[in-house]
Amino acid sequence: MAPAPGLFEAALSRLEAARAYAEIDDETVETLRHPQAVVEVAVPLRRDDGSLEVLTGYRVRHNDVRGPAKGGVRFHPRVDLDEVKALAFWMTCKCAVVGIPFGGGKGGVAVDAKQLSTLELERLSRGYMQRMADFVGPDTDVMAPDVATNERVMGWMADEYARIVRRRTPDVITGKPVALGGSLGRDSATGRGAAVCLAELARRRGWDPSATTVAVQGFGHAGQHLALALADQGYRVVAVSDSRGGVYRPEGFDVAGLVAAKRDDRPLAAVGSPGSPAGAPAESVTNAELLALDVDVLAPAALEDQVTAANVAGVRASTVLEVANGPVSPEADAALVDAGCTVVPDVLANAGGVTVSYFEWAQNRGGVRWSAEEVARRLEATLTGACDEVLAVAAAEVVDLRTAAYAVALRRLGEAIGALGTRAYFRGHA
Ligand code: NAD
Repeated sequence: MAPAPGLFEAALSRLEAARAYAEIDDETVETLRHPQAVVEVAVPLRRDDGSLEVLTGYRVRHNDVRGPAKGGVRFHPRVDLDEVKALAFWMTCKCAVVGIPFGGGKGGVAVDAKQLSTLELERLSRGYMQRMADFVGPDTDVMAPDVATNERVMGWMADEYARIVRRRTPDVITGKPVALGGSLGRDSATGRGAAVCLAELARRRGWDPSATTVAVQGFGHAGQHLALALADQGYRVVAVSDSRGGVYRPEGFDVAGLVAAKRDDRPLAAVGSPGSPAGAPAESVTNAELLALDVDVLAPAALEDQVTAANVAGVRASTVLEVANGPVSPEADAALVDAGCTVVPDVLANAGGVTVSYFEWAQNRGGVRWSAEEVARRLEATLTGACDEVLAVAAAEVVDLRTAAYAVALRRLGEAIGALGTRAYFRGHA
């Protein structure tokens, strides 16, 4: 039996599915099959007890034909080169779907950040940037937060880069604290962007938010802001989970209460019990059970490969909103589409984060500050426009939303790659 394809190969399979609807040159697909540059580094980390640990870090620049590479840095034990390549590829496609002038990049360190003290986390963040400083930069490759890296980590990395190049360069990283040049609205952008996508779908389908139930797997940065934004729109958020498990309450949660509990590092299960901020009993659920709940919308917002061939038959939601990158494997995706489920793909659903990262980069370069309202207005306009375009292609070509989103991305990438000349041009046929 042939070995299962790695995450990057599986990610590339989306290109093949979409190319028929993009009228692009073979050279565009061939170009996108290969990351432009890959760096692997050893990052020494001095632990608080005086011992030295040497960690492995990566940065992949997948493609920068449409602008500097852009993408987060992940600290997670599962990080490896295959994963970082896939994540960088998705960034190339995502930036093209929403039409912002960036390419795709990604980085990470294989480490369990939960086991590090705050001082160790600072040393790791600075150490990673020391190794990457020759490879990234405001005009070449711009970093951002991802799993287990937050705005404080971005602040440390930006500070380290500025020390190395001996210039103020806030535009080398986005997702920084507002006090260090971060953009208002960046922290909530990924969740809010996903909520805009759901609202666009709901508007077309005539959903009543108060009668629409949502389960969120992964109650971290992106998942919490999604749940808050959906609760604001009147949706019933009935289940959430983190790596320790989750809670389910059919009547819906007080999402702000759950967020407060998470901030205090209390288990989510402690929140739904009587006397707790949310004030009503909740059932404990495992992550596997959460994925199979009878809800209208399932929003995986944790990690890749959560819905796979092994568990897809249990998914009962009629809409899957991919807030995480790659949470549904290609086989599971095909099964969901066959079963009539609408999958809002990651390259559209979670593009709010990179969109406001672009706003942050533009503000840093222009030396200007936009108000929270201005950022929210531009985010909504960008995501609504992207949803309109993807939904229109899906309707015109009679394809699922993922194929449509990749077709939109491939058209933009094909235009940029083609503008530099393809075989047809050089042979005088174009
Ligand atoms: P985070 O570290 O803030 O949160 C991740 C959450 O997932 C944590 O609560 C963790 O406990 C939980 N988790 C981990 N494994 C789990 C499992 N097996 N089941 C359930 N929960 C689990 O990370 P984040 O920034 O919110 O990123 C989450 C996802 O969203 C990632 O796929 C990331 O690439 C994607 N994303 C994030 C951003 C952003 O701006 N932060 C932007 C685009 C996409």
